[in-house]
Amino acid sequence: MKFITIKKRTICIVLACIVLICSLVGIFYAVSTASSPQPYYTVVIDAGHGGIDNGSIGYSGTLESEINLWYAKTLNEYFSQFGFKVIMTRENENGLYGPFASNKKKDDMKVRQSIIENAKPDMVISIHMNSFKETSSRGAQVFYAKDSTTGHLLAQNIQNQFKKLLIKPRNECQVGDYFIVNCTKYPSVIVECGFISNPEEEQLLLTEDYKNQVCYAVVCGTLSYLMSNDALS
Ligand SMILES: [Zn+2]
Repeated sequence: MKFITIKKRTICIVLACIVLICSLVGIFYAVSTASSPQPYYTVVIDAGHGGIDNGSIGYSGTLESEINLWYAKTLNEYFSQFGFKVIMTRENENGLYGPFASNKKKDDMKVRQSIIENAKPDMVISIHMNSFKETSSRGAQVFYAKDSTTGHLLAQNIQNQFKKLLIKPRNECQVGDYFIVNCTKYPSVIVECGFISNPEEEQLLLTEDYKNQVCYAVVCGTLSYLMSNDALS
């Protein structure tokens, strides 16, 4: 009887261990698949200018290259939270060229292009601040390459969100003859978040709240583009 009791107890312990191990494997699998899903979409976020190239200089001296990076980092956070794979062309103040580059601007643009091509992204979003000699000019606006249907659609969707969410944006997106939209077949837009040459809009662009609103509108526009684009294809 004692032998049978011990045997029964051993079998119970073994069974309990098997159940426990199976449960742990199940939990581990569930957690590992839930916490690291494969990103479905890839976005390249390009903070315009950097290094020797400050871009435009604002009414009160704001450097475009710095504010572009500030916005690009917030966009990175937002897109990451939505499960996008984000690739940044630059993450600090430096330009994308070597110390001995003879033509720093040209090298910088070539590196941006190769980052885009290697990423094979679903879209490229290049962040800039606009500037014009007339200080009254204002409003966020999106630019796209002339012959890019998907770039145009992405630009339209982001511009529509600007019209819903921002103060006095431009009415329409526009064709722009810029390297970053022309250099790739992937849908690519330049987002001019506003005019730093306009004293009022420059101050607005420098606030945390407005930066968050612009970035939120860009993400909303991108999501609605993906829905319309998926619907078309
Ligand atoms: Zn710029």
